[in-house]
Amino acid sequence: MVSVEEVHKVYQLGEPVPVLNGVSVALPRGSYTAIMGPSGSGKSTLLNLIGCLDRPSAGSVRIDGIDVSTLDDADRTTIRRDKVGFVFQQFNLMPKLTATQNVALPLVFKGVPRDRRRSRANELLGRMDMADRGDHRPNELSGGQRQRVAIARALANDPVLLLADEPTGSLDSETGARIMDVFETLHEAGNTIVLVTHERPIAEHAERIVHLLDGELERIEEPADAPPDEDGRETETDYRWTS
Ligand code: ATP
Ligand code: MG
Repeated sequence: MVSVEEVHKVYQLGEPVPVLNGVSVALPRGSYTAIMGPSGSGKSTLLNLIGCLDRPSAGSVRIDGIDVSTLDDADRTTIRRDKVGFVFQQFNLMPKLTATQNVALPLVFKGVPRDRRRSRANELLGRMDMADRGDHRPNELSGGQRQRVAIARALANDPVLLLADEPTGSLDSETGARIMDVFETLHEAGNTIVLVTHERPIAEHAERIVHLLDGELERIEEPADAPPDEDGRETETDYRWTS
C-alpha cells in the first residue's frame, strides 16, 4: 500500500532543520502500525509525508506504486481525497462550521449530494457518541469532543489509508478504548492504519510499533507475542523497505 524509501526531511527555517534522516518503512495493505518516539523525533512529519500533506527533501513515498512526492499538487489532492483519512494532532476543524458540516466536508469535495452527506456525517457522529452535538461549532465542544469530530471527519470518505496523529490524546480512557474499537473494526475490514501515539497501551493495539528516535528508525517491534525461533529467540519481521 505505502512504501517510504530513504526519506529525508529538512525544514528550511532560516537555518535548515533536519528532521528525518533516511527513514524506510513498508506499510502493507491492511497492516496496522503504530509510530512511537519522543517529542520532536519526527512522528508527525513522517505522517504528513505519508498523507501527501508535505513532500520529502529526498527519498520517496509510494502509494500503490505511485511516487507521490513527484506528483503535482492537484494529483496529490486527488489521492488524499480518494484514499486518505487524516486525524490531525491539532484537530484542524473549521471554526465556522458545525460538527456535522465539518464531518461532511470531505464529501463536499467529492461531490456527494447534500442528503447523503448529512446522513453519513450523522451516522459517523453517532459512532463517536456525538449524535447530540452535531449542531455545535468547535469552540462549543470540549477537547475530547473536538477530537471525536476530527476522527469522524477522517472516516467520512471511507479511506483505505487512515492516518491518525495522537487520536486519543484528549480522550478519557473509556472513550479512547471506544475509538480503538472503531480502529480495530476498520482494520478487520482491511483498511491500512497508521497511528502516532505516546501511549504504550494504545500502540499495543497495532500489529507492530515503529520506534523513531532523532529522525531515524530505531527499531520495529511486534507487540503481540512473536513466536520464538529455533534458538528460542523472538523473531522480528523486517518491514524495512529494501529495493
Ligand atoms: P510530538 O510528539 O511533540 O508531536 P513529533 O515527533 O510529532 O513530536 P514533529 O512535529 O514531526 O515531531 O517535529 C519534528 C521536529 O521538526 C521538531 O524539532 C520540530 O520543531 C520541527 N518542525 C516540525 N514542523 C516544522 C516546520 N513546519 N518548520 C520547521 N521545523 C519544524
Ligand atoms: Mg507530533
